[in-house]
Amino acid sequence: MSTYPHLLAPLDLGFTTLKNRVLMGSMHTGIEETRDWNRVAEFYAERARGGVALMVTGGMAPNPEGGVFPGAAGLFSDQDIANHKVVTDRVHDAGGKIAMQILHAGRYAYSKDCVAPSAVKSPISPFPPRELDEDGIEQQISDMVTAAERAKEAGYDGVEVMGSEGYFLNQFLVAHTNKRDDRWGGSYENRMRLPIEVVRRVREAVGPDFIVIYRLSMIDLIPNGSTWEEVVMLAKAIEAAGANILNTGIGWHEARIPTIATSVPRRAFTWVTKKLMGEVNIPIITSNRINTPQVGEDVLADGCADMVSMARPFLADPHFVAKAEAGDAALITPCIACNQACLDHTFSMKIASCLVNPMAAHETELVLSPSTKTVGIVGAGPAGLSSALAAAERGMDVTVFDRADEIGGQLNMAKQVPGKEEFWGLVDYYRAAVAQAGITLTLGADATADDLKGFDEVIIATGVAPRDPQIAGQDGANVLSYIDVLRGKAKVGKRVAIIGAGGIGFDVAEYLATEDSPTENLEEWLEEWGVGDPSETRGGVRPEGPQPDAPVRDITLLQRKATKLGKGLGKTTGWIHRATLKMKGVQMVGGVNYERIDAEGLHVSFGEARENPTLIAVDTIVMCAGQVPQRTLADELDAIGIACHVIGGADVAAELDAKRAIDQGTRLVASL
Ligand code: NAP
Ligand code: SF4
Repeated sequence: MSTYPHLLAPLDLGFTTLKNRVLMGSMHTGIEETRDWNRVAEFYAERARGGVALMVTGGMAPNPEGGVFPGAAGLFSDQDIANHKVVTDRVHDAGGKIAMQILHAGRYAYSKDCVAPSAVKSPISPFPPRELDEDGIEQQISDMVTAAERAKEAGYDGVEVMGSEGYFLNQFLVAHTNKRDDRWGGSYENRMRLPIEVVRRVREAVGPDFIVIYRLSMIDLIPNGSTWEEVVMLAKAIEAAGANILNTGIGWHEARIPTIATSVPRRAFTWVTKKLMGEVNIPIITSNRINTPQVGEDVLADGCADMVSMARPFLADPHFVAKAEAGDAALITPCIACNQACLDHTFSMKIASCLVNPMAAHETELVLSPSTKTVGIVGAGPAGLSSALAAAERGMDVTVFDRADEIGGQLNMAKQVPGKEEFWGLVDYYRAAVAQAGITLTLGADATADDLKGFDEVIIATGVAPRDPQIAGQDGANVLSYIDVLRGKAKVGKRVAIIGAGGIGFDVAEYLATEDSPTENLEEWLEEWGVGDPSETRGGVRPEGPQPDAPVRDITLLQRKATKLGKGLGKTTGWIHRATLKMKGVQMVGGVNYERIDAEGLHVSFGEARENPTLIAVDTIVMCAGQVPQRTLADELDAIGIACHVIGGADVAAELDAKRAIDQGTRLVASL
């Protein structure tokens, strides 16, 4: 019997059968906007080859005003139909199924032309929406129906009507954004009229043998969101209107509760979907923070849903399902829910990819062709490992050296941080993948120039060393480096000052403020962020708000810049780190000069004139002042004429992060 009997069971929809219970959820990658339809087709076809039962495209606008930004992709014309047909044909040839998401952004559209039920500006957009009149509403419905008809004509197997995450249809459902007093507003029956009308008319237009998924917001996570009674009423009405699958939406985009970041516990919201099971007779899909076959299997075995949706895990590994089927789950490249190369890119108007898989959405551009070269790589951190795996995929003979006894480099420190537990799985994956690829590992000894003679290519990925901030008194017994702290080897006092507020300063602050990681304990995490049962509290927002555990230390986080602390953190996750530290009472102080350290603590002053001398009385000072490249070996090789490629932190330490390291390693190897 399969290891994942629930996950890999087919799902019969009557007129068609899905080959397993895995949906690739909708993601906006930005590739549709390149208008390179071959690239779009390859992105989806690669995932179809990887065995997923059904994929949902990124959101397609039904009309220009409904696009998430001006110029967002949609299905507006016959030419668009022909373009989309390139994609659906390629997916079908690869044995897959694909549905097109119809996404009307409403007031979330980043455009002065945005429309909504009422003229209520969103807190995450600068543009106040125009309130639609009766004709305007009819036009939006008709455009959504036309988009569904065109999707059918373009060869899609179905459509997903996007009714959650605070987009247009969701905006009609909630009194917070719907102030109307006509037949589209007021009572809940009126407020839910629009989504029902859309689904009813879409079904009428596409006929019975076409998948219609409705993505329903089951927990809005905003004040005055829907009640559970309303969610159930809507689900039943949507079923009656003709949908054949319900998908779960969790939280509006403006919610101040994290829903998909790495610090959110795995399957944190499947209990919400479970509440709806039995209320309708059509299959229900659950989602959010499901990233391994075992988690998916457990979710289904627990009766939380009929199917699971995973989105980002299919950027990380297009062959997720095929590997699960083959019993190779350990070889699935895991999505660590960092958002760094996917959502952070999307919100910066860059094409999405994946931190752990730079090929994602770049399938036609980043290609690993066969090669018989030999390659020696020094450093088994993210840069070294990614280049080693890419080289092995090309067929190269690969040897990796590292002075540490284990692979992973700085990833081994990241995994200690509360909320970054996914890094454990990433290091485990690298271990399994390196073994499977037949890469020779030489650990526990410094690689020398002699070791590297004779390779066709030499790659130096020796990483970084902590920067010396040269503060008077920094050699005192009360001063530690972040390495001592995150390796758990040093004793840290109750009162702590952290010098440097980059990614690592924030990580160290979270590590030192937290006793037990709430990411490992769902009840605790829900309490920490103030998430309640939507049957008891509207939108699932607890009236008492977040209730974090008391911090275990008094912490002051410092930087010299006068800007907001954490400004350089991830676009979609920085706010979570800042909010977490605020909840833990961490003092954030910018614009300081470090004057000296003594037994009393850290002495600082402020501004160019070094005014306002202040003692921050602490027991321990932790240095997180950034890093410098470790290039000694590269310099030695240069001196004796052995050519080498320097990548990752050893190349540039500033702004070093795993995303750049992995991308650089993979691209370098592709070019050798
Ligand atoms: P970083 O982000 O470059 O931050 C270095 C910090 O040290 C800054 O706050 C800087 O602020 C301060 N600093 C720089 N020179 C200093 C000096 N001479 N004396 C005192 N303070 C100094 O480096 P990092 O925190 O070591 O992180 C390394 C990389 O890993 C970063 O790029 C980071 O993005 C990445 N990382 C990311 C995450 C994540 O959550 N995405 C987590 C961990 C690490 P001032 O110059 O204003 O004092
Ligand atoms: Fe997952 Fe991070 Fe890759 Fe996004 S960038 S798909 S969150 S691993």
